[in-house]
Amino acid sequence: MRTLRTVSEVRAALAEPRRAGRSIGLVPTMGALHQGHVSLIRRAREDCDEVVVSLFVNPAQFNEAADLAAYPRDEARDAALAADAGADLLWAPAVHDVYPPGFATTVHVGGVSESLEGEHRPGHFDGVATVVTKLLVAVAPDVAYFGRKDAQQLAVIRRLVRDLALPLRVEGLPTVREADGLALSSRNARLSPDDRRRALALKRGLDAAAAAATAGTTDAEALRAAALAAMREHAVEPEYLAVVDPDTFDPVADVNGAALVAVAARVGEIRLIDNTLIGRH
Ligand code: AMP
Repeated sequence: MRTLRTVSEVRAALAEPRRAGRSIGLVPTMGALHQGHVSLIRRAREDCDEVVVSLFVNPAQFNEAADLAAYPRDEARDAALAADAGADLLWAPAVHDVYPPGFATTVHVGGVSESLEGEHRPGHFDGVATVVTKLLVAVAPDVAYFGRKDAQQLAVIRRLVRDLALPLRVEGLPTVREADGLALSSRNARLSPDDRRRALALKRGLDAAAAAATAGTTDAEALRAAALAAMREHAVEPEYLAVVDPDTFDPVADVNGAALVAVAARVGEIRLIDNTLIGRH
């Protein structure tokens, strides 16, 4: 596996494989790789001839300076994990490679980016859409891989790719979890032992909503109440807990098709998100 820094290095490295008709898969990450990222890289390895993993802690998508400063970084460890999972190229640009002096472009996806994460993290999805557009344009992959753990991000990217008619397929892969159900996240390492236990509130809340849905509840308020009660057993209050359409992220009042239950909560200092699909899907 080779490590690249600049957009020109990426284009040069992919020119020959592209000419030879080899398929290219891209897995965008912010590093601090865990088994969730590994599942995306492995899937890209199965599907594609050339696997590119990008590693960039994107300042533009952090709406809290402290969160950006505390974000775990270990390129050597990430490179070893990415290589082991089957990556051919690791693109780890510096901030000035992605945002050279004078950079003044923002990609804004409307609609689906406005609610939930968009509302609670102002500017976050502009940062995501801008950097993902830059990654997609530089790599020009046949397939790009994202986790459903960040379900709204996935919906924003699907919208972006459709709207700009970018010639690639977007794959959304299932959330990888710890044995007890906690969704893997680079931020989990920063949880204190007590908060690590309380962090289960998110999954327990989602499970309670899913169980109520399976038992026949379709009213979103009743589903939310079931989830809230389960979260409060762990002394965690959600920042939001919503039943939404999985594509548009518009609120759903009565679940009669597929719906997504999405939750965000601060556990100690750490903000976590999770989601689950309910209903017919
Ligand atoms: P991040 O490095 O957190 O920006 O995540 C990079 C990619 O990995 C995104 O597409 C995430 O949705 C995905 N991802 C993060 N956590 C998980 C997980 N637990 N399971 C599956 N994919 C994940």
